[in-house]
Amino acid sequence: MHVATAAMKILVLALLVQIATAVPLSPAGRYGDSLRGPAQPCDKAHCNLPTCRCAGTDIPGGLSPDKTPQIVMFSFDDSLRVQDFDTYYSKAFPNRKNPNGCEIGLTFFVSGNDTDYSLVEDLYYSHNYEMADHSVDHREPTTWWENASKDEYTHEIMDQKSILEKWGNVPADSIRGFRGPFLVTSETEISVLHDNKFTYEATMGTQTNYWPFTLDYKSPICDSPSTCPNNSYPGLWLVPNINYKQSNGYPCSMIDACTAPQSEKEWLDFFMENFNLHYNDNRSPFGIYAHSAWFYYGPQRLAALSAFLDKLATMKDVYIVTHSQMLDWVQNPTPLDKIGDFAPWKCPPRPKPRCSYKSPSCQKEYGDFSMRTCTTPCPPRYPHYGDPDGN
Ligand SMILES: [Zn+2]
Repeated sequence: MHVATAAMKILVLALLVQIATAVPLSPAGRYGDSLRGPAQPCDKAHCNLPTCRCAGTDIPGGLSPDKTPQIVMFSFDDSLRVQDFDTYYSKAFPNRKNPNGCEIGLTFFVSGNDTDYSLVEDLYYSHNYEMADHSVDHREPTTWWENASKDEYTHEIMDQKSILEKWGNVPADSIRGFRGPFLVTSETEISVLHDNKFTYEATMGTQTNYWPFTLDYKSPICDSPSTCPNNSYPGLWLVPNINYKQSNGYPCSMIDACTAPQSEKEWLDFFMENFNLHYNDNRSPFGIYAHSAWFYYGPQRLAALSAFLDKLATMKDVYIVTHSQMLDWVQNPTPLDKIGDFAPWKCPPRPKPRCSYKSPSCQKEYGDFSMRTCTTPCPPRYPHYGDPDGN
């Protein structure tokens, strides 16, 4: 009797082990796996680079700060327009180089409607710029994004990706990230990104110097309980939006939302003080998050940004790279003394754009919007939600 009970126990135990092996509760993070149910606390034994990383302030690869390049990421959201590029971006960024001799990187989170796709193509192929996704419509109210269905999110995200590919000629596999309009996230949005094999999500804010991490396990960053990702999304990276500190004591999420700096000196001090909160701490990537509209409020802003870039250019351990290049480093942490040979940060070999934004191959008015693209012929209708081809 006792022997039979013991044998039964062993059998049950063996069965449990088999189930546990077949369906691991702590996935190591193979991208594209279907959802594994509720996210568990991170298990460092099963979460390893390059595909998995637990959330934390520790430097990837266990590097010390003095061996870690300070990454700076500039990103700009919403429609990408010639007027903004010619007036502001072109005066601050082109012709600047990182210590390895290659051009600095920028990331544009591009929404549809009013974006100039000949400019998208020209910038992508002429520079080290990354084109990321920011929805087709960027529609209001902000609550729409909290409640949008899976089908609605799929259209907003995937139709904009198609538009960037078809009308901006951006390679599909280079469109790797998404930022939610109005910095709103939801579990639905994250599941759509995971289903469609996006590399990273770049919306959620925090006041802690987290390095990016994957959503294999529970995220410590939540804007509100309704936006917390509760499930596991193996292999999808979360690039935290680390909030700025300003002199009035209030944190701010994007530089547009910061109200304390006014003069050129105050803006430069603001940039340097916030940069140093990363540089003198754990060297977590420092992001400058903005919209074109930030430049509109007086020339002191462009001057301060240029002065900040001048200061960074004197530092041999500072690299300004795109979001994807930043993640390349996180996945393969390479110490400063070997960074000159780090392949993902070398100058990207890209062919020339098919046309210049100064003379697009297609230029046509469609009611509220005008289309400018190097792709011909012009579409019969303006590409939009549900119809990225413009048929
Ligand atoms: Zn936006």
